[in-house]
Amino acid sequence: MSRVVFDHVTKYFGEHKAVNDASFTIEEGEFFTLLGPSGCGKTTLLRTIAGFYMQEEGNLYFGNQVINDVPTHERNIGMVFQNYAIFPHLSVFDNVAYGLKARKVPKKEIESRVMEALELVELAHLRDRIPNNMSGGQQQRIALARAIVIRPALLLMDEPLSNLDAKLRVKMRTDIRKLQKELNITTIYVTHDQEEALAVSDRIAVLSEGVVQQIASPRDIYMYPQNQFVANFIGSSNFLEGVCTFQDNQEPQGVIKLLETELCLPLHRSYSGKVMFSVRPEQIHISTDPGSEYPVQGTIQAVSFLGDKVSYLTRLQDGSIIDIHDYPGKGQTLLQEKQQLFLDLQLHRSVMYDGEGREVIYSAGEA
Ligand code: ATP
Repeated sequence: MSRVVFDHVTKYFGEHKAVNDASFTIEEGEFFTLLGPSGCGKTTLLRTIAGFYMQEEGNLYFGNQVINDVPTHERNIGMVFQNYAIFPHLSVFDNVAYGLKARKVPKKEIESRVMEALELVELAHLRDRIPNNMSGGQQQRIALARAIVIRPALLLMDEPLSNLDAKLRVKMRTDIRKLQKELNITTIYVTHDQEEALAVSDRIAVLSEGVVQQIASPRDIYMYPQNQFVANFIGSSNFLEGVCTFQDNQEPQGVIKLLETELCLPLHRSYSGKVMFSVRPEQIHISTDPGSEYPVQGTIQAVSFLGDKVSYLTRLQDGSIIDIHDYPGKGQTLLQEKQQLFLDLQLHRSVMYDGEGREVIYSAGEA
């Protein structure tokens, strides 16, 4: 069984909780990504699954079996690391064959399984090359072939693409995802790159300071971030403060005042007081027409052309600065600094948190 269950797992380094009470399940065949900033505990979680670290509290299951005391070599896992960790003096073939030889697999079977793995990573034609003078992408493919050739129940990958250039990273992540689907292998992937996580994962766990903040599909993580940390870490967000007054009608709703806007929204629970909206830069509608009905006014402070979009850093009347993304078509002129804008913040399409940004009080649609 290649289902992985964390049951109240805590891992300490001295006094420091690198993983704090993690409880979640990674389903069989899933591409599951651990995502978060440096030091949040991603690698520690992965190494705990691998058996390199032993948690101080809680249980780790593979399927229904508690594997706390099972050593790494009996966990049936394949691993791929950031630095490839391949043997520079062995040929491509011998690198991939290494694990099978150690397991005393018959020679004929080694030949066919290594070639099968090399075909899968498109390196069969380079079987006799020495990795030293091969590209980073090729070396990572060798590492990938070496991990899958043992037919592991779990594939663990720790920042496997971080040493590659941006274009190659995009190609490799697509290839890894394709391979994972073909082999239907449960894969646990560590990255700090949110775009990579969104592109390849079935589900993502966002971590901060050892604590799992949210686990959801890429779309739900982006559309319905469960707290301010996730909204800030995934994509970009403008955080705008308002005040909510609870009204207990048939369904709980709140009247929210924010800048020049007043609107009524259905709430998840009764709540009055300070609220914080996460407003995505691309959701804001803009107009330069003073006759526009858009209620919020701002002045452009900086214009950045970003290729597929333009970013307008805009100062609102309360002094706060927000980022607005616009997607001008060909031939359309860009707006200028100091130009006045009229904005519709589309608050009804946002997520609204309590004043501390810890809990969702309103979200558009349902996660
Ligand atoms: P990065 O993206 O930088 O690799 P990470 O999210 O993978 O970060 P971890 O390497 O899991 O983070 O580290 C989590 C916390 O535990 C950090 O505060 C780190 O300093 C600490 N830590 C990790 N390994 C050890 C160790 N062997 N001894 C002591 N502290 C450690």
